[in-house]
Amino acid sequence: MKQLDRTRTLVCLSGGQDSVTCLMEACLTGGAAQTYAVAFNYGQRHAVELACAQKAAEILGIAGYYALELPALQQIGDSALLTGADLNERKDGLPASFVPGRNIILLAQAAALAYKLNCGSLVAGVSETDYSGYPDCREYTIKFLEAALNAGMETDLQIVTPLMHKTKAETWAMAYRYRLPPFDRAERQYGVELIREHTHTCYRGDRTLRQDWGYGCGQCPACLLRQRGYAEFSARGGLQ
Ligand SMILES: [Zn+2]
Repeated sequence: MKQLDRTRTLVCLSGGQDSVTCLMEACLTGGAAQTYAVAFNYGQRHAVELACAQKAAEILGIAGYYALELPALQQIGDSALLTGADLNERKDGLPASFVPGRNIILLAQAAALAYKLNCGSLVAGVSETDYSGYPDCREYTIKFLEAALNAGMETDLQIVTPLMHKTKAETWAMAYRYRLPPFDRAERQYGVELIREHTHTCYRGDRTLRQDWGYGCGQCPACLLRQRGYAEFSARGGLQ
């Protein structure tokens, strides 16, 4: 069995609020020098997410950022996120934005990279609390996947999901705690500022509308989740 180094972390980065919050958390707990990130280009509607992922990695000064090409998901293409269909629709009881197998495929590739980088901890910003309803974000899927990957690689890799039971408001509150270099200014909202400026959640890829919670159309399901979370976070004292 290959003993992977638990002090080294690889974070799956989409460029959205959740994964960037996880990246900040990893930098805060393990240090940026022990933190790596991996992003995937699988034909998302908007390149802006990947640009955000790279920018956040750069700002946080992590040890390495990997952008992997994954065109197979685009070829399979069974999702409104990839085809341009209506994102507010539902299909087979799931949101139209569901990309079948996405997290399973991404995490399997990330695990292979973690093996190479000797990272014993693989972080995924999935959540089953305030989430879109994707079954591959649920805790039991992740647990089974972790077991399968460890069996297949003879490793002791841990898939860590810091946001699994957190609401969006709690995720905002997590970001609020961060004053990482170069964020160690007096303003306590620094982590929140990074989330606002350098993450992207909107399914429509809108970067022209700046809301108090960041950029986005304010109408698609992803924007609505983010907006609601921010409103709840603010109502509880937020940036006070
Ligand atoms: Zn939107």
